[in-house]
Amino acid sequence: MQQYYADIAIIGGGASGLAAAIEAKQCGGSDCRIVVLEKNARLGKKILATGNGRCNLGNIEEKQISHYTGSCTVLAEALFQEYQGSEAFFRSLGVICKADSGRLYPYSNHAASVLDALRLQLQDLAVDVRTDCAITALKRSVENMWVIRTAEKHSIYAKYVIAACGGYAAPAMGTDGGFFEILRSLGHTITSVSPALCPIRTMPSLLSGLKGIRVLAKASLLDAKGTLICSDSGEVQLTEQALSGICIFNLAAFVREEGMQIQLDLLEHLTEYEVMELLWNLYAQRSQWNIEDMLSGIFQKKMCPALFRASGIRASMSDPVYTLSPYEIENLSHTIKAWNFPVKPPHTWSTAQVTAGGIPAHEISETLESLCWPNLFLAGEMLDLAGACGGYNLAWAWCSGICAARSAVKKWKEDKGCDQAFQSVGSSS
Ligand SMILES: Cc1cc2nc3c(=O)[nH]c(=O)nc-3n(C[C@H](O)[C@H](O)[C@H](O)COP(=O)(O)OP(=O)(O)OC[C@H]3O[C@@H](n4cnc5c(N)ncnc54)[C@H](O)[C@@H]3O)c2cc1C
Repeated sequence: MQQYYADIAIIGGGASGLAAAIEAKQCGGSDCRIVVLEKNARLGKKILATGNGRCNLGNIEEKQISHYTGSCTVLAEALFQEYQGSEAFFRSLGVICKADSGRLYPYSNHAASVLDALRLQLQDLAVDVRTDCAITALKRSVENMWVIRTAEKHSIYAKYVIAACGGYAAPAMGTDGGFFEILRSLGHTITSVSPALCPIRTMPSLLSGLKGIRVLAKASLLDAKGTLICSDSGEVQLTEQALSGICIFNLAAFVREEGMQIQLDLLEHLTEYEVMELLWNLYAQRSQWNIEDMLSGIFQKKMCPALFRASGIRASMSDPVYTLSPYEIENLSHTIKAWNFPVKPPHTWSTAQVTAGGIPAHEISETLESLCWPNLFLAGEMLDLAGACGGYNLAWAWCSGICAARSAVKKWKEDKGCDQAFQSVGSSS
């Protein structure tokens, strides 16, 4: 492939690129030359890793924009109206979905079924796929064509380009944010970016002895002034260095400054007064017990030393409960309702599933065309939109890929129509 011509070149063979390629070929027909350029040796490497290998490919609430954050939410809300939905998209490819608490998975429970359906559909449609093809530059030729340069110094010429290169999250899967630099060179800006859907690191000393514990909690993210930014409830997993679990993942996109903290409410359904009442009852019932057993039946025993430490209680765990002072009981009830963990930046791209931030909404049209350059379309995680955990990010990838493809094919058909009309005027004159 020293030099190569395509009508539409799709850069990135991940979720949005594959959906775009299928839609473009189905809308454009056999005349429309489409190529997918993927830097990995295989298409859709990341898709295989999604949903712990099960691929949570969408959600029954995927069109509700409250599940997304970023400057592109208004744009995405409009595009989701046009989108048939992930379940219908995959049904059209022969994949049956099942819902588990609203999350859509392939009936086979295997991400490979999803990738195979996409891959084999491309094969059926005879879409040209080039793997091991890293794109290093994108330029406009004097003939108004896109010139796409590969790492091997080959050139691909295309009338339209759909950039579907993902963000910075999970760089081991090919997404190291490198294509953002190419877009920057074309005049685009990138909003501030941060890892999303990932564990949030805190001070290891606060987690001492807690590794492996899972606890139900309402987790709130507070800014440096203590103002609530957002919260989510669910199971929090404690590791050596970080808080993890879906409700923590959902807060990560909002960690943007120094001095933030995560606050855990371990008994969300009770008021602080009710927690205090509960503790006094336990104090009375269990006054002769060891302090480490006081909260058994509510929390795992292993959690007690850390909880007491965080409450400023210096007593030994083998001391009897009756030695606790009213002040210490009050502090303990406060910690149970508001256990603070300072956020320690940075949490890393390698543990993140998604990029918060990207190309801002004001630089793209409602058809996902770049406002810096005509005939360049953007899809997926490159755009400043991040979804919550639960299939929302893949839903956005399929939806935006399909929308970008429809827009590119529409322009290709209009241009082709103009060319034909021009030729017939030329031949009749
Ligand atoms: C471990 C993990 C689990 C996840 N689980 C889920 C889940 O269950 N549900 C969910 O909704 N979301 C999940 N996500 C998020 C979801 O996978 C992404 O949001 C989605 O894949 C983004 O699609 P995309 O097409 O924008 O980018 P990607 O799918 O990341 O695809 C981008 C492609 O572009 C290629 N590329 C990059 N640069 C270049 C270049 N210069 N030249 C050529 N090719 C290039 C990359 O190699 C990659 O194949 C998960 C993510 C991870 C990391």
